[in-house]
Amino acid sequence: MISYDPNNIFAKILRGDISCHKILETDYILAFHDVKPKAKIHALVIPKGAYISSYDFHGNASDQELKGYYQGLNAVLSQLGLCHMTNTKGGYRLISNAGINGGQEVPHFHTHILGGEKI
Ligand code: 5GP
Repeated sequence: MISYDPNNIFAKILRGDISCHKILETDYILAFHDVKPKAKIHALVIPKGAYISSYDFHGNASDQELKGYYQGLNAVLSQLGLCHMTNTKGGYRLISNAGINGGQEVPHFHTHILGGEKI
């Protein structure tokens, strides 16, 4: 089992060592725009806790952290106007890469939100 690297880029963003284009911050999450967007809207949602992957987060986070994370993700979907399925702005894709075969670059759990156009 690999251990969490406190010097990964998202840990640095959480500490404020690296800046980001912030969308929303709560007690449990930070959401910001991806630096290399792969869609018109490309947001990243990260938990404040030190978790490597979805497996790590879902297995080891507290109930409060889990709830806080997914409530925060929902708030980001609302804020970005992606939650309405009945108009052309709405709809989105969620992606969470994990590990080498999953193509994960940054070893701090995160969910990509892609939208704003037909993916
Ligand atoms: P992964 O491949 O780990 O699922 O995705 C990591 C994402 O983080 C990539 O889409 C990449 O563009 C984004 N990213 C990497 N470094 C930075 C950064 O310093 N700032 C922001 N906003 N996004 C980053």
